[in-house]
Amino acid sequence: MDLKQIYREIVNEHNLHPGHKDEMSAPKIRRRGSNPTCGDDITVSLDLDENGIITDAAFQGEGCAVSQASTDICLDMIIGKTKDEALSLVETFMDMVHGKASEEQIESLEEAASLQDVAHMPARVKCATLAWHTLEKMLKEGGDE
Ligand code: ZN
Repeated sequence: MDLKQIYREIVNEHNLHPGHKDEMSAPKIRRRGSNPTCGDDITVSLDLDENGIITDAAFQGEGCAVSQASTDICLDMIIGKTKDEALSLVETFMDMVHGKASEEQIESLEEAASLQDVAHMPARVKCATLAWHTLEKMLKEGGDE
């Protein structure tokens, strides 16, 4: 299998069997994000402890495979991280999809690196970045309800 195939497998797997697509009863922060150009619509829920560490994350909603997989991968990566660490991951991810990240930075994104090919598909960038944008807003501005 070449790397592109491996990336496709990772995206497929997270789309078909998302580990974090779940309802959270009383999250600390909840925020909806949408990408009208594709029809992606997600709501992300986060729990944080008193030290600002993200202890749990879940999402609900619908959308294309790229948006759903990217959301699931994003939440996978931020659980156990501090707000600042999560924001730094968002920054690196944005750099990657805009073709500005170094090899080393892309490697640090682990499974999220599987979405790097969207950098060459402008129509898909908004799908891939939806969860990450939503997360950034949640951590900086709070929830929307
Ligand atoms: Zn989409």
